[in-house]
Amino acid sequence: MSDVDFVASFSSRHLINGQLVRGEGPVQQIFNPASGEIVTEIAETSSAQVALAVEAGQQTFRRWARTTPAYRSALLLRIADVIEQQAKSLAALEALNCGKPLHQALNDDVPAAVDVFRFFAGAVRCQQGQLAGEYQEGHTSMIRRDPLGVVASIAPWNYPLMMAAWKIAPALAAGNCVVFKPSEHTPLTILALAPALNEILPPGVLNIITGSGEGVGSALVGHPLVRLVSVTGDIVTGQRILQAASRNVKRTHLELGGKAPVIVCDDADLDAAVQAISTWGYYNAGQDCTSACRVYAQAAIYPRLVDALGSAVANLRFARKQDEENDLGPLISARQRDRVSSFVERALSQPHIELITGAAAHSGSGFYYQPTLLAGCLQSDEIVQREVFGPVVSMTRFDTLDQVVEWANDSEYGLASSIWTQNIDIAMQVAACLQYGTTWINTHFSLISEMPHGGLKRSGYGSDLSSYSLQNYSVVRHIMARFKQQF
Ligand code: NAD
Repeated sequence: MSDVDFVASFSSRHLINGQLVRGEGPVQQIFNPASGEIVTEIAETSSAQVALAVEAGQQTFRRWARTTPAYRSALLLRIADVIEQQAKSLAALEALNCGKPLHQALNDDVPAAVDVFRFFAGAVRCQQGQLAGEYQEGHTSMIRRDPLGVVASIAPWNYPLMMAAWKIAPALAAGNCVVFKPSEHTPLTILALAPALNEILPPGVLNIITGSGEGVGSALVGHPLVRLVSVTGDIVTGQRILQAASRNVKRTHLELGGKAPVIVCDDADLDAAVQAISTWGYYNAGQDCTSACRVYAQAAIYPRLVDALGSAVANLRFARKQDEENDLGPLISARQRDRVSSFVERALSQPHIELITGAAAHSGSGFYYQPTLLAGCLQSDEIVQREVFGPVVSMTRFDTLDQVVEWANDSEYGLASSIWTQNIDIAMQVAACLQYGTTWINTHFSLISEMPHGGLKRSGYGSDLSSYSLQNYSVVRHIMARFKQQF
């Protein structure tokens, strides 16, 4: 079977109640952003099918919730093994569907997804909590952590397989049933896995549906039997989902946008900072909620950092025929590329902003945008305040630590941040003052399964990864037993 025929068969891989079925909704075109060409067309899940998926989860929930952590753990380990076995084909599909370099999909995205399943397989077997005891005389109290029911999991397009792992693994580990919806742009890897997932998991435990946010996503969020909506996406999407969820008082787990400040002090290791920002400000074409996109450099290091970073960014490679030569891929869509372009145009219409490099769409095919560095930006500028979600980094000069901490925190976002200095006192004090879910010291971007990833402010709430995520997908309960004193 050719790649195209293989992908075309995905239309009949919606997973509903243990059956691989064809979507009965409108047809969606799936693009390869690196070429701009249509890869395939996939019929969305219809509203009636969404309801069947949720009902299947609800029916299975009673049995699944009573399985032991060891049992669920074993299934999650099998899923991890399958992803590992299919690493090459999954990476190829991810590269095709997102346009990202194949070597990055293979070496970063796929192993990260495997590790997340393995982590939660272990974590669910060793959860901790408050001690049982006689907190009232003649009564023993104990704490349980129980699953919630059907979880609606809704993912974005920037790391489709990895985001699926972040959402599915902790929810299943905790004993919930899941209805998972990937982004309408990037359904291919999870649909590729659907048959294997269906062999491993009992029917109804995991259901996979596809389609647009307004249509399929809304139908899912609005279903009264959904007990938790977990979404990673834009702030506006989070707001809409919160409104819809409020009608049935559903729990929500929101992981929304980011605009990470990168504070580079005068005494920072310049080469290390340049290496990190030129890598992590542009990785995945900047389509990353932790992207190192908002640089604050102290006055003495500022000119040297602008120069060195400008050279490094101008040398970033993309749209090359040889996959290994590419540092970044295209934007996910023509619309996203044009959105990035309009941010840069508006920034450059400000006389104080200086273009160091980039600021143009790629002349060839695909939705590429040149890696762009803008200097002389001010705190109040749109380019400093709003998430671009593209390969664009702004640079702002600062004088004092007080000032930069205030500027870094002066943001609607609160997901990730970093501080670059060789002075541990400064590093620790600044880290303590930053209102971000993560602060890296002399590094940026590293996520590990054992540690939480989550935000403050409009970046949302709830933790992905780590044992905190298991808590988000479960509810704490108090069981109290009265006993008659016998001695
Ligand atoms: P998006 O908000 O457009 O879509 C995210 C998902 O929500 C998609 O599956 C979409 O179909 C669905 N959706 C949209 N409207 C919906 C609705 N009304 N009801 C139900 N579902 C709906 O986001 P995107 O463009 O796919 O991803 C980019 C955004 O995601 C950026 O803002 C980025 O910062 C954020 N993001 C955050 C994290 C994090 O961990 N905080 C990680 C990755 C991406």
